[in-house]
Amino acid sequence: MSAESPGQKQGVKAFFASALRPKKSRQTLRKNASTTDLRLAARPSANEPPPPMPALAPLAAHQLKYKQTHAQIDTQLGERRDYTTMIHTLGLLEPMDTYGPNMIDDDNRPPGEGDIASLTSELWNNIAQYLSPAEAASLAFANITLYRRLGPQFFTALHHPRNYNYRIEFLAGLDRSLPHSLLCFPCAKFHRRTQEGSERLKPTHVVNPLFECPNALNALNPPPRTPITHGRMMPFLFVQLVMRAHRFGPSYGLTAESLGRRWMRDGWSFHSRFHVHEGRLLMRVKSQTFAPPVLTPSQQRLLLYSREDYCPYFSSCPHWRDGELMPACKCALDHIPKPRQTGGLQGIEHKVKDRWAGRVHDPNSLVTLCGFCRPMRRCPECPTEYLLEIKLAEDHSDARGVQFKQALVVTRWSDLGDGTTPAGKEWGAISGTRDDYDSFKHYEKRGIASIFEAAFTADTLPGQRVISMNPKKKKLGENGHDWY
Ligand SMILES: [Zn+2]
Ligand SMILES: [Zn+2]
Ligand SMILES: [Zn+2]
Repeated sequence: MSAESPGQKQGVKAFFASALRPKKSRQTLRKNASTTDLRLAARPSANEPPPPMPALAPLAAHQLKYKQTHAQIDTQLGERRDYTTMIHTLGLLEPMDTYGPNMIDDDNRPPGEGDIASLTSELWNNIAQYLSPAEAASLAFANITLYRRLGPQFFTALHHPRNYNYRIEFLAGLDRSLPHSLLCFPCAKFHRRTQEGSERLKPTHVVNPLFECPNALNALNPPPRTPITHGRMMPFLFVQLVMRAHRFGPSYGLTAESLGRRWMRDGWSFHSRFHVHEGRLLMRVKSQTFAPPVLTPSQQRLLLYSREDYCPYFSSCPHWRDGELMPACKCALDHIPKPRQTGGLQGIEHKVKDRWAGRVHDPNSLVTLCGFCRPMRRCPECPTEYLLEIKLAEDHSDARGVQFKQALVVTRWSDLGDGTTPAGKEWGAISGTRDDYDSFKHYEKRGIASIFEAAFTADTLPGQRVISMNPKKKKLGENGHDWY
């Protein structure tokens, strides 16, 4: 009951106060009579002070609150940068529970030990029979009451080599309680981090151990990793570090930004960048090289492939040999404008023709690619997308000074997965250990490139069709005819 309710007022004063108060029926009558003119009703009465003015108008206050809660808002314009997310949220009625970090813990649950203890060991063992070895071990590990009911049998089972994947699954669940250690997959054990907080992604030839491991030099049991380009690998440990930090806090690993690098090799320049989206690590690698016009097929091969292993210099997924990626690269190179003879009769002829058509010949003009090499390509077997471009770039190595030259740019976007286990869908597909991935199903609504670019730039990518890199799904690998 509020303090002003009549029941709490006492004595003579209260009696008079309630007696002199106008009747409720009268109040309503007067109110009705006075509100006929809305302008009068809105005017404050003479003896009543006006209500305090809020610091911000309701609309401005709402906009400010909205800006603070939505990180993807342009600071200058106040507009939502990620238009696709905006459109998707409009149509999204059910929560995306299959593809999101569903690591929601409730620390305020009432204790359940009494309920657990009320069931017998036999009953708990029966329940555990319905679980996988990893889940059963997690159940026994949950608290001391459950451990007493279930015993050590499930932990012993995880030592069996046959249960390696279950052991990894169980250990990955302990990540949160071990910020100073990192799960080593060859050993299936946690090791103490020796470069805690200063781990850096380095070229493959640099020895860069993140912990002391008895399997470090064991070539038969290498740690999981996937190639980015020649001489650059992406160890799974770094995906782990970024995703742990993303899930649990900075002390658990590294930020996605700290993995980005720029480097040069074999006449190509590379730029890698990383971003976490919906609980998975996305990577973009831009590979660029200057490309002279009118290349013969063998010159094109020299430009695209390494002499050492006949793999492309640019960043590619393990499935690059199948499908149309390499033919599209060669097609893009063919679009680089040819220089014209400026001397002699032929030169004059060209000049007259250009003047007649009202155009100026410029070998550095913008290159438009054709319907075959322009669309974005998506690998059907792993979460990777490619875009080919011919762009003008500055060449600082020329003796004549800075020169503008046409360059081939191959951009690759990949999804490296959630960093819990290398057996995961995305990592398995990217590193070529799984062949059950269907990228057109997983990225049905929105491409990896579109998600990635929207996170960094105000503009979304120019409307580019995404087509399959291997439309016929022929898997010939090295036996195919088009890859070289
Ligand atoms: Zn180890
Ligand atoms: Zn083309
Ligand atoms: Zn692929």
